[in-house]
Amino acid sequence: MHYEGTITGLEILDVRFPTSLSLDGSDAMNPDPDYSAAYVVLSTDRVDGVEGHGLTFTIGRGNEVIAAALEALRPLVVGQKISAFTATPGAFWKHLTGDSQLRWIGPEKGVIHLATAAVVNALWDLYGKLAGKPLWKLLTDLSPAQVVEMVDWRYLTDALHPDEALEMLERLAPTKPVREAEMRAHGYPAYTTSAGWLGYSDEKIRRLCREALAEGFTHFKIKVGADLQDDLRRAAIVREEIGAGRTLMIDANQRWDVGQAIDWTRAMAVHRPLWIEEPTSPDDVLGHAAIAKALAPLQIGVATGEHCQNRVLFKQLLQANAISYCQIDSCRLGGVNEVVAVLLLAAKFGVPVCPHAGGVGLCEYVQHESIFDYIAVSGSLEGRITEFVDHLHEHFLDPCIVRGGRYQAPLASGTSITMKMDSLKDHCFPNGRVWRELQNRAQQSK
Ligand SMILES: [Mg+2]
Repeated sequence: MHYEGTITGLEILDVRFPTSLSLDGSDAMNPDPDYSAAYVVLSTDRVDGVEGHGLTFTIGRGNEVIAAALEALRPLVVGQKISAFTATPGAFWKHLTGDSQLRWIGPEKGVIHLATAAVVNALWDLYGKLAGKPLWKLLTDLSPAQVVEMVDWRYLTDALHPDEALEMLERLAPTKPVREAEMRAHGYPAYTTSAGWLGYSDEKIRRLCREALAEGFTHFKIKVGADLQDDLRRAAIVREEIGAGRTLMIDANQRWDVGQAIDWTRAMAVHRPLWIEEPTSPDDVLGHAAIAKALAPLQIGVATGEHCQNRVLFKQLLQANAISYCQIDSCRLGGVNEVVAVLLLAAKFGVPVCPHAGGVGLCEYVQHESIFDYIAVSGSLEGRITEFVDHLHEHFLDPCIVRGGRYQAPLASGTSITMKMDSLKDHCFPNGRVWRELQNRAQQSK
């Protein structure tokens, strides 16, 4: 699609929320996260003043390192015609990830890739706003050939060839309107992690389970991996509250070695978890495969992906039968383009995509990706459920809405990621109002 105008600016904001004060987001590896965003605003010379907003999520310290990487990407973006992206988003993605000197500090992983995600997602936000469509609808309305163009096929063709991807998309294209109507009417199924943070008391877990049940949730996830007896007690509490007919998932956040992951999860099998999430290092494809094989007789699946750095790692996890649930992350992968690559791979291997969310802004992002996945790529809801965490949505202009345990299809143009101006200003680190007040309080209590 052609749009007039040039990208004239790239503003970078280091935005942090002091979530460690309430232990929201605490797990076995990350005891005190401050949910943060390296936030990008792309400005243009258009008279309508349209901007593209994007972010990548971190948990506090190090957010400034991503900001520095964003600075390094600036020359690849500023001065480019808007249409250089909107006409061929795949070619532009290769332009962003293909700079040979910057590629050296990846390639396609780590800090530079997290920064790439913020920029790529900001470009899609700009495209959505120009088209007057929410991201999921923008993607859904692309032709199968345009979806195939979005993806960088390098390193993927031994598992999925673009011609085969085109065929898969074309097969589903005639029935897209039916699924779109269904999504608009009923939304996409969600599960909650809000009740199960490691730092919460038993009473708080019970109360939050009851609240989530009343809100219509059927799937509940808790954090595990610090202490087995503690995990067994907390899982029993959740099982007692949600009953036998609802679903429990457990998440170890990479805490274990392979053998320990198998033993620990076996010990928890009594509470019938659907999956064990991130049992070990996110890079250990064969380790995940060994865990999956050992747990298969117990009907416990392995889920991972929130720390999987790129499409190549997902390809290997799928080829090795290492995962039963594929957990893409909107910002760990290189933005929308690479997420779509993994959606296609997962569909080819028949593995359901259950995106990682929470943090700040991740729920806003994944609702679009899940809805697109259902309408255009997988065509199925079976085994699919998207994470929801009820934190920090009040800072967004178009926050995600979960009703009756389902993400409601967002209707505003763009990616839902634009934050309120006051929220951005107040949470800028270290000089925003919120951080100055915390600093003052800390000094007074000395
Ligand atoms: Mg997780």
